Amino acid sequence: MLELLWLLLPVAAASGWFAARRTGRCKPVRDDTQRGPAYFRGLNHLLNEEPDKAIDVFVEMLKVDSETVETHLALGNLFRRRGEVDRAIRVHQNLIARPALTREQRAQALLELGQDYMRAGLFDRAENLFKELRDSRQYHAQALRNLLVIYQQERDWEACLKIAEELAPLADDPMWLERAHFYCEMAAKLIQAGHLGRANALLRKALSAHKQCVRALHMQADIAIRQDNWKEAAKLLKRAGELQPDYLTEVLPQVVECHRRTADLKGLRRYLEEALATNPESCAGLYLADLIMETDGEAAAAAFLTDEVRQHPSLRGLKRLAELHAELPDHNADAVLKTLGGHLTDLLHKRPGYRCTQCGFDAKTLHWQCPSCRSWGTVKPRTDNDEPRQITQ
Ligand SMILES: [Zn+2]
Repeated sequence: MLELLWLLLPVAAASGWFAARRTGRCKPVRDDTQRGPAYFRGLNHLLNEEPDKAIDVFVEMLKVDSETVETHLALGNLFRRRGEVDRAIRVHQNLIARPALTREQRAQALLELGQDYMRAGLFDRAENLFKELRDSRQYHAQALRNLLVIYQQERDWEACLKIAEELAPLADDPMWLERAHFYCEMAAKLIQAGHLGRANALLRKALSAHKQCVRALHMQADIAIRQDNWKEAAKLLKRAGELQPDYLTEVLPQVVECHRRTADLKGLRRYLEEALATNPESCAGLYLADLIMETDGEAAAAAFLTDEVRQHPSLRGLKRLAELHAELPDHNADAVLKTLGGHLTDLLHKRPGYRCTQCGFDAKTLHWQCPSCRSWGTVKPRTDNDEPRQITQ
């Protein structure tokens, strides 16, 4: 607060000087009598340790003219950065109300005021300002970027898509990833309403925008499952796992379900073996162990898993191994192993299942847009061997 006052004090004093110069008195007015009663009122507040009132007086004192516009803008920004959004809004509104501003100055003030409104959560007002700025040549891209933030906040995905298309040629980034997610969001709404055909059409658009969009493939698989088309669903899910092996753990349970529904256990076994070879950190080994148990019995499954856990130690593997051993007949350590399994289950439940690769945000469920850094497609299922989370100050 005090540093701001030190900044304002000379500025407020100088505004008297500017005013004087404009009225034709070329000699700079420096004596205190010309600073007027408001200046002393402000000083008085300051001396009475009322810095809030002092700031308000000094801000009101600042006359807007061509030479103090920059000061007003700087002051407004300073208030916003300090979280004093009400004051920032007042300064910028005051600026915009002046007819003397050039077009460019007015546009700049509008942009700042829009950002104040966003900071204050007044998205409707911000939206109106940025829509007005959309036509300005200088702030066109900035207005669009702010509108995109607002529409994402409001979950207006059609509007997001339009903005992204307009913004893409202006920015270096064609925004394919974001556009694909906007299509997915729109498709999700349609799926909820039962319009599967229209949803599928949007998901195809998502995939043509971004070929690697595992989310679109996963959603297409969900639609196929709703239509009892298990083979097609398995194909889509496998493609998602191939395109981005990080998501393999996410799609595996459904791949297994699809194969079971079509009674294709041979195909499943082949697929799980391949998946395990390409991505040993996924839980393909666990599903394979289950399959071996069904076909060759618990002892064979335990032998497979023991070997697997030795090669790729994981909490999930240990837990399953403990369970298997406890189920084996004539096992004298079954009670101990059951307890061990219980502890491992607790450990698994406590740790978050997903993490943002962009900002390290931990989540219990899969978010397609990271709630923390708002990046799309960066939250991924965690593997057991993830690095410990880095704490940033
Ligand atoms: Zn993030």
